[in-house]
Amino acid sequence: MSQKNDRRCVSCGEIGAKSSFWRIVRVHPSHQLQLDNGMGRSAYLCPSAECLKIAQKKNRLSRALRTTVGDDLYQSLWRRLSLANRSEATVNHLHGTTNIMM
Ligand SMILES: [Zn+2]
Repeated sequence: MSQKNDRRCVSCGEIGAKSSFWRIVRVHPSHQLQLDNGMGRSAYLCPSAECLKIAQKKNRLSRALRTTVGDDLYQSLWRRLSLANRSEATVNHLHGTTNIMM
């Protein structure tokens, strides 16, 4: 039994499938940081406000990737999170409207 396809969140340490995390990559050899794709050293993070907050506060991504992770990268993750939450909120709102009409 191999667990090599499982990944670990840098904040809470939860282990799960690669697809259930955000992937932050320090691309080789340019050392640029990017999300989702690329070859190089990668870190994984739950797509949640809690884990993002911890990662930012404790500099977990910088440590995992052995490079400086700037605010702009965290900003794009926050933006991504708020977009995900917004679409959920829209769905809830629509359900609410349906209930009122019934
Ligand atoms: Zn986590």
